[in-house]
Amino acid sequence: MSSGIRFDRVSVAYDGTTVLDGFDLTVEPGEVVALLGPSGSGKTTALRAVAGFVRPDSGRVFIGGRDITDLPPHRRGIGMVVQQYALFPHMRVADNVAFGMRARKVPKGEIPGRVGEALEMTGMTAYARRYPRELSGGQQQRVAIARALAVRPGVLLLDEPLSALDARLRSGMLAELARLHRELPEVSMLYVTHDQVEALTLADRIAVMDRARLQDCGTPQELYRTPRTAFTASFVGNANLLPVTVAKKGVVSFGDAIELAVDTRDLASGVSATLCVRPHLVRLGEGDEDGDGYGGGGAVDVGAGVNALAGVVTEVQWRGAAHRVHLAVEGHQVIADVPELPSPPVLGDRVTVHFLPADASLIPQGVGHG
Ligand code: ADP
Repeated sequence: MSSGIRFDRVSVAYDGTTVLDGFDLTVEPGEVVALLGPSGSGKTTALRAVAGFVRPDSGRVFIGGRDITDLPPHRRGIGMVVQQYALFPHMRVADNVAFGMRARKVPKGEIPGRVGEALEMTGMTAYARRYPRELSGGQQQRVAIARALAVRPGVLLLDEPLSALDARLRSGMLAELARLHRELPEVSMLYVTHDQVEALTLADRIAVMDRARLQDCGTPQELYRTPRTAFTASFVGNANLLPVTVAKKGVVSFGDAIELAVDTRDLASGVSATLCVRPHLVRLGEGDEDGDGYGGGGAVDVGAGVNALAGVVTEVQWRGAAHRVHLAVEGHQVIADVPELPSPPVLGDRVTVHFLPADASLIPQGVGHG
């Protein structure tokens, strides 16, 4: 069954507090959409409204074009994977995987074949007769995924499925989930996470949530390159966010008298906005004021049309292949992630950083709450 998901103005409140507020979102058939946002922003509530474990106070939920708001969970055609695996400890792997099918009254004769198929898809065939306690965390999560897939869902709901795993296992499982998505191109997935790397890696689109509301939605590239809100900019990747005023078309002013070139789109002169530039696109200049020259970071050919900001170094972190340099510029922090330098700047140095106009984007003030 191929089926997309649609939320139509879904609101949920607990004890008078709205935790999901007029939520609208469409997941196309076969699409992976990540719900990304800080803890408590309403992501799980949205997911549970699709699963049928939360009843919306208003609004409707559709799967495959059908209004399922009033259907019980087991009749919605969904599979669900949660953070804590939730396997039955007294059942062997194969029985855990079969469980959902028994509950859904799949004909008995079909069950072993579908268990085998689901275990194979998740690489767990050899573990069919083990008990959950005889498996690692990563293996348990594979079994949980196999169980969700065995019911042949049109919709797979994943709620922080990797957050109980350590970092190395997490990245392996992330690749596994991407592979499953390729092998099951008709299954829509809604993936709750607070981890931007998971969202950027796996999702066709990311829905950014904050304070019970959908703040932004777009492809990972759109949200990263041209965030619509300051919240998105800082949550999807690191961001330097500077308050600026549009001076004229293509130019904004920052601080006392600094002019920066950037696409001002249709914003009128005098309008306040936030300039967003990613730390890895900020370069240390060759010709900084004390003449040291940090050429290692200077991919920008400093000349006409390149933006420059002069400031004082407040922190330098070595991160292996890169240095992260913090500077104070006109009372604001600017971060530059530059390729590793042979002699990095030190605290108190005055340096100039540069970025290309095309590498910055402008966020009008008053969009979202950012
Ligand atoms: P997220 O998944 O983004 O962390 P949740 O959807 O789990 O957020 O929770 C949103 C808000 O709703 C939180 O403030 C949480 O405490 C509250 N909440 C969630 N479930 C319940 C519940 N069953 N009863 C009362 N409050 C709840």
